[in-house]
Amino acid sequence: MISIKNLSKIYKSKNRDDVTAVDNIDLSINQGEIFGVIGYSGAGKSTFIRLLNRLEEPTDGKIIMNEKDMTNLSNKELRNERQKIGMIFQHFNLLWSRTVFDNIAFPLEIAGIPKEQRKSKVQELIELVGLAGREDYYPSQLSGGQKQRVGIARALANDPKVLLCDEATSALDPQTTDDILDLLVSINQKLGLTIIVITHEMHVIKKICQQVAVMDNGKVIEQGEVLEVFMHP
Ligand code: ADP
Ligand code: ADP
Repeated sequence: MISIKNLSKIYKSKNRDDVTAVDNIDLSINQGEIFGVIGYSGAGKSTFIRLLNRLEEPTDGKIIMNEKDMTNLSNKELRNERQKIGMIFQHFNLLWSRTVFDNIAFPLEIAGIPKEQRKSKVQELIELVGLAGREDYYPSQLSGGQKQRVGIARALANDPKVLLCDEATSALDPQTTDDILDLLVSINQKLGLTIIVITHEMHVIKKICQQVAVMDNGKVIEQGEVLEVFMHP
């Protein structure tokens, strides 16, 4: 379970007004669920998800994830905890000079996994995301959907307990979006990991999420089961 209490992020600036991007959010996210955060551009979604793996420093509040208080960790502990959190991005963030294989192997190299073990783990991930036969391709030789499959495999390399998806299908066409969403559901079922999806697209929430929080102006203005939040008359 991920427990978020009184979480706030204020971007301070010398020559402009401060921006309260995340404003006193409380949320509980259950282990193994697919949780959606939806809102218009500027609502604070991206800041929120970046606070979860501490790519942003919170101004206030607590985040308890994998039994650890993410807001109170030494640098060494933070590195350790971050390995349990995978992340995928709208524009994939792949290494363009590395092959599919080497992109997926990268986090394993950083974690110091020996070569033979790395090789079998990458092969397993390539099968899981449906990229068998593309190991030696470079990202520029792949379609958008295939690039995101590489992103997903890389995010799963260190067996995370949580996968964060930051507008992960927003750069894809509708058919490819559905294929990637199906893949996320099958990974959720096979591996039992918690998936947090942020998006501005209702379709994404309705297709794969059980729970949803609606963000506006830094605040959660509504939350609950997707069916309850969006299906009433
Ligand atoms: P969303 O992902 O919903 O589009 P963001 O989290 O990107 O929302 O942005 C929320 C608010 O915080 C916006 O007003 C945005 O301009 C502001 N903001 C985001 N990042 C920064 C930053 N690094 N410095 C200052 N303001 C920021
Ligand atoms: P989409 O627009 O649906 O993302 P693309 O048109 O980019 O798809 O790619 C369709 C197919 O063409 C994919 O199977 C991909 O592997 C292949 N492909 C795309 N770009 C290249 C390239 N530069 N070299 C070789 N194959 C490519």
